[in-house]
Amino acid sequence: MSHILNGKKIAQKLKDSLKIEIESIKSKFNRVPGLAVVQVGNVAASNVYVKAKTIAAKEVGINVFDHHVEKTINQNDLINLIDQLNIKEDVDGILVQLPLPKTINEEAVLNSIIPEKDADGFHPLNVGKLSISPKNDESLMIPCTPYGCLLLLRELDINLTGKNAVVIGRSNIVGKPMAQLLLKESCTVTTVHSKTVDIESICKNADILIAAIGKPEFVNEDWVKKGAIVIDVGINRVKINDEKSKLVGDVLFNHVKHMVSAISPVPGGVGPMTIACLLRNTTISCKNRLII
Ligand code: NAP
Repeated sequence: MSHILNGKKIAQKLKDSLKIEIESIKSKFNRVPGLAVVQVGNVAASNVYVKAKTIAAKEVGINVFDHHVEKTINQNDLINLIDQLNIKEDVDGILVQLPLPKTINEEAVLNSIIPEKDADGFHPLNVGKLSISPKNDESLMIPCTPYGCLLLLRELDINLTGKNAVVIGRSNIVGKPMAQLLLKESCTVTTVHSKTVDIESICKNADILIAAIGKPEFVNEDWVKKGAIVIDVGINRVKINDEKSKLVGDVLFNHVKHMVSAISPVPGGVGPMTIACLLRNTTISCKNRLII
């Protein structure tokens, strides 16, 4: 029987532990972690994500400072806003919801967040720290989606050491940090991408297969080794008919689920973990700043 990883339940466990930690911070320091959420314009998917993140943050006791600005804002004004949040005492984490309008340079904006408040873990300094710090450094701001995938794997209570892990995708926000995290777990890691030759046979060899591609149901049973663990990062909206659509992952779930030892579903797998890990980063930032 394959194990369907319940991201909602595992994320709730992390949120419950954060709630206790935040209560303890509050009783000792008379303050709670603060998260500034910066959203530019009205991209429908961003509205959904920001709402979900805000609800989850409030649920664990994090203060949310909402900064929803017009899509016509220019880059300098946006960076000025971030500069103000950088020095605001009660803001511990700053999240800039992506994508930004094409007129704005995302990299410049993300790099203007000071590393201490980089709730997404995207700042070059945090990316570097992830690469060189020891495995159990609890002060790190780690990109939320790959860290959420790692927590799903840890939930299986298996020894990751020496496992053959393949990450499909090499984006800065998912694929690359995922590979770093698995390397720290002493997996043997291969990253594959759109230019990889014979990708199927490389994936077929994986004990752990992470799919972060952005192509609906792309990975089918021919890519997967029997008994492997599959984590599906993809979130793709596909049309069912003229009125209806649904979310699917990058993995053809119904064909693959019977042959694996564990698999994360979409929705309800990595998505809730990403949000919980954002709350973790904000709490860690608060603790780092209070020097707990
Ligand atoms: P991305 O920046 O578009 O990167 C996609 C990666 O997939 C690239 O490295 C690309 O290779 C690779 N790729 C594309 N086509 C391929 C092919 N035919 N064969 C092999 N590799 C291929 O996407 P992302 O930001 O990493 O996100 C990936 C997926 O995860 C998306 O569906 C996104 O919505 C989802 N996501 C989910 C969460 C969550 O919380 N669950 C969070 C973030 C992202 P090249 O580099 O060669 O182009």
